[in-house]
Amino acid sequence: DRPPRLLRAFISPGEGEVDREEVDNSATQRTIRVMQWNILAQALGEGMDSFVNCPLEALNWAERKYLILEEILTYRPHILCLQEVDHYYDTFQPILAGLGYRGNFCPKPWSPCLDVEGNNGPDGCALFYDEARFDLVDSVNVRLCAVLIPTNQVAVVTTLRCRVTGRRLCVAVTHLKARSGWECLRSAQGSDLLRNLTTLTQSPGGPSGPTGIAPDTPLLVCGDFNAVPSEDVYQRFASSPLILDSAYKRLSRDGLSEPAYTTWKIRPTGECCTTLDYIWYSREAFSVDAVLDMPTEEQIGPNRLPSYNYPSDHLSLVCDFSFKKQEEDHM
Ligand code: NDP
Ligand code: CA
Repeated sequence: DRPPRLLRAFISPGEGEVDREEVDNSATQRTIRVMQWNILAQALGEGMDSFVNCPLEALNWAERKYLILEEILTYRPHILCLQEVDHYYDTFQPILAGLGYRGNFCPKPWSPCLDVEGNNGPDGCALFYDEARFDLVDSVNVRLCAVLIPTNQVAVVTTLRCRVTGRRLCVAVTHLKARSGWECLRSAQGSDLLRNLTTLTQSPGGPSGPTGIAPDTPLLVCGDFNAVPSEDVYQRFASSPLILDSAYKRLSRDGLSEPAYTTWKIRPTGECCTTLDYIWYSREAFSVDAVLDMPTEEQIGPNRLPSYNYPSDHLSLVCDFSFKKQEEDHM
């Protein structure tokens, strides 16, 4: 007697709702589907968050893990970027490996999960990719610094080679410092991530290398930035020399505004309905073919998130990208 899943449609920028099954084969073969999702750490959901309208039974891990897996399997992303993963080794890594994914995990140095009784270890960021679609080139775990001081926030940065097009891409997942009052720290962490990404996407044969000018590796950066679009860290990404754009702006009529919410919850301090999660992409390398629409307020329901029919307080973001045509594919 559970309520039904939230039904969400893919929207094609400028063209409205699309049936992804109907898109022609060669196009779908080239599509790279990316999911960004803060899945809500089990220890934080049960022991820290105090979602006032969500019964504890709705957070029972034995059931909730299947709702998380169902969400992932509904969309079957080629690249899966998760935050607040505190069940990597015992759940997501083995189950997703059986479904053809390979992953990398970076725990937070001082995860707040460790303060919860009966915790399952630290939470962190995880990045999975479909092994049939991508070869691994390199993956690094980064501890984000703020003015050279290491912080409690991390990123996983994985470079992949697409087996369909032969092209490389660099994918990053991060989870920046939460709560109001920490805007400056988020901004510094964002700058440090951009600095790391600049270094990591500089190809060996690039401007400083022996063979002259080579293209930088295109980027996808997924994250719970814990920052609304007016914050400094968002502006830094939007105006970065890496030439990034935020994919979910493509849902809006004018193509310029972020959705109204990516998280919606009620804590003792009140209701929180805001946009904190983003998928950034290299504007010059990728086109956005489709974006998964946000559920409506009615679908989310009066008790907001998480709930019996949705396992996290953050909604998943799912986008279909394709490489823009190039004169030659870089193998
Ligand atoms: P953050 O402030 O970034 O938040 C950590 C988590 O809490 C996030 O996953 C966040 O979720 C969630 N959160 C945000 N707002 C609330 C809220 N109002 N109520 C409940 N949960 C919320 O944490 P830090 O990474 O800075 O870590 C803080 C904790 O880490 C400390 O409490 C301490 O236990 C530990 N720590 C210990 C140190 C030590 O030396 N022992 C050093 C540093 C940290 P979301 O992103 O979804 O909002
Ligand atoms: Ca959280």
